[in-house]
Amino acid sequence: MSIELPDLPFARNALAPHISEETLDFHYGKHHQGYVNKLNATIEGTDLEDLSLEEIVRLEDESTFNNAAQIWNHTFYWNSLSPTGGGEPSGEIAAAIDAAFGSFAEFKAGFNKAAGGNFGSGWTWLVKNQAGQLEIVNTDDADTPITDPELKPILTADVWEHAYYIDYRNNRGAYLDSFWNLVNWDFANANL
Ligand code: MN
Repeated sequence: MSIELPDLPFARNALAPHISEETLDFHYGKHHQGYVNKLNATIEGTDLEDLSLEEIVRLEDESTFNNAAQIWNHTFYWNSLSPTGGGEPSGEIAAAIDAAFGSFAEFKAGFNKAAGGNFGSGWTWLVKNQAGQLEIVNTDDADTPITDPELKPILTADVWEHAYYIDYRNNRGAYLDSFWNLVNWDFANANL
């Protein structure tokens, strides 16, 4: 059984003007699809074909980890965005953010600082730890919080340059502004 590229949860032009259709053509259609193709080429004809994507990620095997984790991370990222997202959080996530960071403004500043300072390629995550507290964590390259049994991902921002170079060139800060216009609080509440 091969791993399939999940459908995007919105049309490719639905995140414009914050994230363009062209970015999604490349980021989803080329990069995300590329990780799927490469992983399938690696697992074809092996015992790994019987495993789920998450099981392959958690093996942390050198031959499959990067592509498998990038598939998982990107699917989680698309779900962290919504054409009807953005604005202030509501529901349980709003209270959890206030409890952990003091206010939404302080959380946003902390997340932007972490994402802006995430050197090179990586991801910035809002996660829930084992104590039930929210935390901001950075991961490098393909690394993902799902290999840490103590962390549950709530939201993520892809800070690889391929996420923003078409729309914002090297301006990661402008891309992060677009993230806050799209962030999917319903998804965050469902993950909490
Ligand atoms: Mn990406």
